[in-house]
Amino acid sequence: MGVSLLQTVFLLASARQAFASCAHGTFLSPRAEDGSVKVNTFGYSGEIGPLNWAALAVENGACNTGTQQSPISMVAGTFNMIPASDLQIDIPDFNEGTEFENLGTTVEVIAKGGTLAFGTKTFELQQFHFHLPSEHLDNGTSQAMEMHMVFQSAAQEIAVIGMYIEIATDNAGTPSVVQAPEANLTRRGRPERRKNQHLRRQVVRSTGPTVLLETVLSQVGSIATPGTKVATGPVIMSEIVNVLKSGSFQGYMGSLTTPPCSEGVNWLVSTARLAVTANTFNGVRDVIGFNSRFPQNTPGSPNLLSLSAATPPAAAAVVEIPGGVLG
Ligand SMILES: [Zn+2]
Repeated sequence: MGVSLLQTVFLLASARQAFASCAHGTFLSPRAEDGSVKVNTFGYSGEIGPLNWAALAVENGACNTGTQQSPISMVAGTFNMIPASDLQIDIPDFNEGTEFENLGTTVEVIAKGGTLAFGTKTFELQQFHFHLPSEHLDNGTSQAMEMHMVFQSAAQEIAVIGMYIEIATDNAGTPSVVQAPEANLTRRGRPERRKNQHLRRQVVRSTGPTVLLETVLSQVGSIATPGTKVATGPVIMSEIVNVLKSGSFQGYMGSLTTPPCSEGVNWLVSTARLAVTANTFNGVRDVIGFNSRFPQNTPGSPNLLSLSAATPPAAAAVVEIPGGVLG
């Protein structure tokens, strides 16, 4: 019995470390000490896909029972608008470069250092990675990609800044930030009347590509194989920080969007967007393929997979075709 208990503990520990790509580099999924890149064993289709994550490990139960799951469609009423001035974002440039690695389920840039502070909490940046297409939906609409900047506090809380990435409409020149009006309707189509409503009207988009993304993602072809990594050139984070400060944040309490789907994650989805060239987007798509968990139920509502499991099968529909001849 002792051995089997030990084996069980070991298996759970391994599973914990093998999953959690959204939280890779945090206490939930520490990096390998030998510098090797751990490849995740869950996936986005078939039996290892999001419909079956709970069956892959005992600790993944929240994936099909949690009621504060992510991602969600960012419609009015599901989030609080937070002005950028309420957050203190202090992230240094990585002038010496860093590492860009392929976890099998995403590509990730190691970015240890820099802080995010709001309220009484302070979080430290660990890494940023990419989803294709976006996991959150902007008022029901998916975007080309989404970047997740993952932070961890000393008390082992997780905060994630989500940024939508669009295809740049202007492939040359410096990024120029323009403010575009956004549809401002509730889920039922009524005008939104909430605190900080004026903030939601502004989506800040860049017509030119984001230099940091072009710098990093142009190397994606060299880490096409899961488990590989490459050294980057200088990663200038101040560009991203400036974009973040030009917008505001849609905040809500949710979960990791990857197994074990742990809840209590402080989500901050930026209204300021990044952009990549079509060439860069195609290169990333060739490597990532598809890595987006399906949109979850409104926070506080039953988990969609629990609802689905509890629904009795509908009576088989019998369709009679006159003459029995199919056209
Ligand atoms: Zn993620």
